[in-house]
Amino acid sequence: MNRIDNPLSVDNYSRPILEMPGDEKKLLLHSCCAPCAGEIMEAVASSNIETTVFFYNPNIHPKEEYEIRKDENKRFCKKLGFKFIDVDYDTDNWFERVRGLENEPERGTRCTQCFDMRFERSALYAYENNFKIYATTLGISRWKDMNQINTSGIKAAKRYDEIEYWEFNWRKKGGSSRMIEISKREKFYQQEYCGCVYSLRDTNRWRKVNNKDRIIRGIKFYN
Ligand code: SF4
Repeated sequence: MNRIDNPLSVDNYSRPILEMPGDEKKLLLHSCCAPCAGEIMEAVASSNIETTVFFYNPNIHPKEEYEIRKDENKRFCKKLGFKFIDVDYDTDNWFERVRGLENEPERGTRCTQCFDMRFERSALYAYENNFKIYATTLGISRWKDMNQINTSGIKAAKRYDEIEYWEFNWRKKGGSSRMIEISKREKFYQQEYCGCVYSLRDTNRWRKVNNKDRIIRGIKFYN
């Protein structure tokens, strides 16, 4: 089925009105990269959910890569009229948190710590700023283990009686393919590794074994 005939493609899709837990209308949305965020941000915008994007990702290495990913998020927030919260790039704390886990594979315990740290900060901000619901864009990526992300998300929310983690499967009903369509339409920056220095190292190792060129950061955009 081509895009013109596909009812789930971004141009044809009749977006349903999403309901958050407790019929809340205000959302704190943790975001990491714009390609994952685009579909989710359009979904909540269509449901008139008042959304604030929370950018807390001290895992992203190096700083230039972090700034590119952040700017792409900001750009799309501006387009949709969402508030954007730019949080600390506290890399020392991140490296401390994952110490000893440097050689863990992706989806292993280093990633659990990485998710825990980012969601703990998100839940804290939600608590301190009168949000009852928070969610993350990380789970839409098929590279990620959705259960691992949701487990971390729920765990962080449980630190506060008032906060709930919105566990929603953004991949379903064409979400994964609309994510790519929106990325192409918006010409988002297309990062080629998850984010941390260890994922950059491991992706380059894999490329070498498979006779592929090393990653050149900062140059690849969806088109
Ligand atoms: S691979 Fe990705 S999720 Fe895992 S620790 Fe690195 S940045 Fe975090």
